[in-house]
Amino acid sequence: MSARPQPAKTSAPSLRLDAALQLLEQSGHALPELAEVGKQAWLQAVVDGLCEISSRDALTGLANRRQFELALAREIDRVARAGEPALVLMIDIDHFKKVNDTHGHPAGDLVLKAVARALHDCIRPMDTVARFGGEEFAMILPNCPPSFGQQVAERVRTKVQGRSTTIAPGQEVSVTVSIGGAFAPQWVRSSAPLWIERADQQLYRAKSEGRNRACLEQPTVSLVSAEEKSLLFGTSQLQDFE
Ligand code: GH3
Ligand code: MG
Ligand code: MG
Repeated sequence: MSARPQPAKTSAPSLRLDAALQLLEQSGHALPELAEVGKQAWLQAVVDGLCEISSRDALTGLANRRQFELALAREIDRVARAGEPALVLMIDIDHFKKVNDTHGHPAGDLVLKAVARALHDCIRPMDTVARFGGEEFAMILPNCPPSFGQQVAERVRTKVQGRSTTIAPGQEVSVTVSIGGAFAPQWVRSSAPLWIERADQQLYRAKSEGRNRACLEQPTVSLVSAEEKSLLFGTSQLQDFE
């Protein structure tokens, strides 16, 4: 067995990094170079590695729920400041329990990974796709005009439907997803739970209308005037004093 690199001895109280290094090793993260052990760059690499694994879902490699909530909070800020349209999609695999019951939990895991890959293949660099929990995923699509929302959600739905997973030699499984979507109210500071709740209501509608479909909330037209928008930024108050 190869010896794990040990931090160099210093006069400062030594850091207990064993558990951290073990986690990095177990998650397949390349450990920082042996020659660098104990140096600032080495410690930074350990911290970066820990940040990386604490923001990813271990099974699918997608962003985890914690990372999703951070990205959502950033997006809420952006929408309130810049008034850009943004869409959240909640995506749930249909009848997934049946996959586990019929083919076993490990096969279910393979299907989850395949769905995650299909979702990842749908996104632009500025989008976020996360495993929200269990067999549910979530997407944040910044700068997505309401007129494109349905088309985007349909593309996600058909991408998953078109993939199948090999769970054993010669044995393929395919699944569908139901999708619920909601736009952030422009020029207004929403909250993560409220935004997710609205997308969830649409997901519930997609399930109850038969599954394998995408339902999006109708975005409301913003009646905020240009003057009110500038008030939001505080620019006109500043101008009053100029
Ligand atoms: P619906 O169409 O209404 O969404 O039905 P469903 O069967 O997909 O939903 P339900 O909530 O009844 O079942 C979800 C299943 O997902 C049950 C749970 O065991 C399974 N599941 C959750 N997380 C994992 C996982 O990490 N791996 C596997 N294999 N199964 C999981
Ligand atoms: Mg489901
Ligand atoms: Mg579910």
